[in-house]
Amino acid sequence: MQRIENYIDGKLVAPISEQYLDNVEPATGKVYSLIPDSNAADVELAVAAAKKAFPAWSTCGNMERSKVLLRISALIEQNLDAFALAESIDNGKPVKLAATVDIPRAVDNFHFFATAIEHFASESHFMEKTAVNYTLRRPIGVVGCISPWNLPLYLFSWKIAPALAAGNCVIAKPSEITPMTAYLLSKICIEAGLPAGVLNIVHGLGGSAGQAIVEHKEIKAISFTGGTATGKKLAATAAPMFKKLSLELGGKNANIIFDDCDLDNALKTTLHSSFANQGQICLCGSRIFVQKGIYEKFKTAFVEKVKSLKIGDPSTEVNIGAVVSKAHQEKVLGYIQLAKEEGGTVLCGGDIFHPTDERCKDGYFIYPTVIENLAHDCRTNQEEIFGPVVSITPFDTADEALMMANSTEYGLACSIWTNDLNKAHRCAEQMETGIVWVNCWLLRDLRTPFGGVKSSGVGREGGWEALRFFTEAKNVCIKY
Ligand code: NAD
Repeated sequence: MQRIENYIDGKLVAPISEQYLDNVEPATGKVYSLIPDSNAADVELAVAAAKKAFPAWSTCGNMERSKVLLRISALIEQNLDAFALAESIDNGKPVKLAATVDIPRAVDNFHFFATAIEHFASESHFMEKTAVNYTLRRPIGVVGCISPWNLPLYLFSWKIAPALAAGNCVIAKPSEITPMTAYLLSKICIEAGLPAGVLNIVHGLGGSAGQAIVEHKEIKAISFTGGTATGKKLAATAAPMFKKLSLELGGKNANIIFDDCDLDNALKTTLHSSFANQGQICLCGSRIFVQKGIYEKFKTAFVEKVKSLKIGDPSTEVNIGAVVSKAHQEKVLGYIQLAKEEGGTVLCGGDIFHPTDERCKDGYFIYPTVIENLAHDCRTNQEEIFGPVVSITPFDTADEALMMANSTEYGLACSIWTNDLNKAHRCAEQMETGIVWVNCWLLRDLRTPFGGVKSSGVGREGGWEALRFFTEAKNVCIKY
């Protein structure tokens, strides 16, 4: 059976404990590889390697760092099919999605920050006849990057690339549920000539390997993407140590669809924003609010489209693959049960999908599910389900839609559908989210700030925001 190894000090190494965890393929329910069960001792080795590498990496110049990161980007691109297949096997997502979204985005992340760093500049502040101040931005040192399972390489590289570009050395931990493409990335880094110790990838559980990263006093900043409960725990550990923290957490995003929208477009995109990656994208819209004038028409057409989605073996041409694990399948099914108890009517789906083919008969599948008749403030509409389950609710006025959309503790993203520009502006301003899409969804420009408000997180990623996070600003004041 294939063994994944840690990447420490430029080498692929076994965990010190020599203990491994099972890695399961969600589409088959079978163990197909082993993951290092790393602990604080492995993190210690990684930090020592990173500290040793930091002086040279942080001072070799933006161009030099840029060249290595561009090589990493190019090598991922050259191996795109192998990466996409690995991501699909590890996560359960359709291989086509991995090949068209996840892996190209990882290629772009390295490319984007490799070039961004060459244009990164800081401010100066001139005091009339007195002094000039300039802001000196320097890399922080050794930083930690911790990522989740839903978009494994996509989100892993979204953190690592800016951290490295800015001159930091990194201790990174991918999710223990989807470690494979991070392992493939470590091989690419060796091939690309990334100096030893600049990036160290430690695999293992959140409570041991992850916690050891957050607790380590030499790791000065943590960039974390994951669940809100984990983010809370992380912040409690890191805050008394005064670490710099970026937290990208859960969401319960709303789609607000007005009578005057382009209906075909709204339908097509809402289908995608509801069920892409089996609904396991932090940005997926899980609450669909539709204005009364088009409610019945939208609902009927939407349910029809959902029923036509092809579900099954993610290595084949399907729209919906497997959810990531047995535990997650049970969690999502639990929410469907809760929705029924809360008075919801299941319009389609609502159950396990049983593939007929031998390969996937023990995989973790759920039919895409649409639920109606739920109060906006019931648990199903307030808590993050993170699966192929959406609710649909009618509304009268924009104020009512905004009230319901803003009623959760989360504030990550939303989609507004209208052809009235004034209404779009007003709603965008009043939505309590970090991201608003108007007449689109998941349209991403990597220069824009990315992140949430309320329990969806603290801080922003993307563009200059990421490079600012991964550098410390020092003001230098020079008197005339
Ligand atoms: P999770 O919080 O369980 O795990 C995320 C990562 O944190 C994993 O690598 C895990 O091993 C690690 N971890 C767990 N406990 C830890 C600890 N005590 N110390 C350090 N690290 C620890 O999240 P998940 O289930 O992997 O991912 C799903 C969640 O991520 C959802 O809530 C989703 O909304 C969120 N998410 C948010 C964004 C965003 O940009 N806001 C993007 C993707 C996913």
